[in-house]
Amino acid sequence: MSTGPQRYSQIVTDKAHPARVYDWLLGGKDNYPVDEAVGEKLPPEAKDAARQNRQFMHRAAAWLATQGVDQFLDIGTGIPTEPNLHQIVQEIVPTAKVVYTDNDPIVLRHAEALLVSRPGGVTDYIEADVRQPEAIVEHARRVLDFSRPIALSLIALMHFIPDEQDAHSIVRDLVATLPSGSYLVLSHAASDLYPELAAQVTAEYAKGGIQLGFRTRAEVERFFEGLELVAPGLVTATEWDASGKVQDAEGSGIYTGVARVS
Ligand code: SAH
Repeated sequence: MSTGPQRYSQIVTDKAHPARVYDWLLGGKDNYPVDEAVGEKLPPEAKDAARQNRQFMHRAAAWLATQGVDQFLDIGTGIPTEPNLHQIVQEIVPTAKVVYTDNDPIVLRHAEALLVSRPGGVTDYIEADVRQPEAIVEHARRVLDFSRPIALSLIALMHFIPDEQDAHSIVRDLVATLPSGSYLVLSHAASDLYPELAAQVTAEYAKGGIQLGFRTRAEVERFFEGLELVAPGLVTATEWDASGKVQDAEGSGIYTGVARVS
């Protein structure tokens, strides 16, 4: 089942877009020369960070599904890149329902073709901005049951939202709609792990017209305020593994965490 697209917006090809630069970093084909121009100037570690972030999503989503979570609200979905979240969780729980959200119209175009549920499960998509959390939740309520646990994923999203736009209260407002037993899954680029690289990446995105605001560990930790971080806690993308299997992890400039709503 899918409730279908909300509307079409214009795809702008003369200005770089975060979803398309990220697609370029992952080796995807759904980007334009303006996006590639930004990507080409980034240090090689940016590609590593994108891959590590994506792999964190894979592990966290699979872990949540094995915990029995069968409802997912994913904001800042990105251009579909296999496997997508619904493919990972429906492999484990075939009836899982996933609501995807992104504010970039290119994601919607691909969502119709590529974010298609298995029979028995549900995928849905809304083009919306995380800075309008009420609109997202209002839509999600048509598909998800907010009296049962939901995993809210904000993966590599909140570094696009500066403090002046109330990044922390947006997350707090979204989490406040979730019942006990729900989870927040969040990853965020670090400003304090590889400060020179972080500054270089931020500067190159800014030249391409994209504002990025990487955060310190303490600032990222605040997104989880009032929640119980599950093991291994707030760690880097390559270190996050709920099974505790990761050893000698490759360095990563992305903070990651999964926390339970009590
Ligand atoms: N979550 C995916 C994609 C991360 S790229 C993953 O981790 O693999 C970040 C995504 O956030 C992009 O697709 C971009 O379009 C989206 N995004 C950026 N600002 C946004 C906003 N204000 N509201 C909703 N989505 C946003």
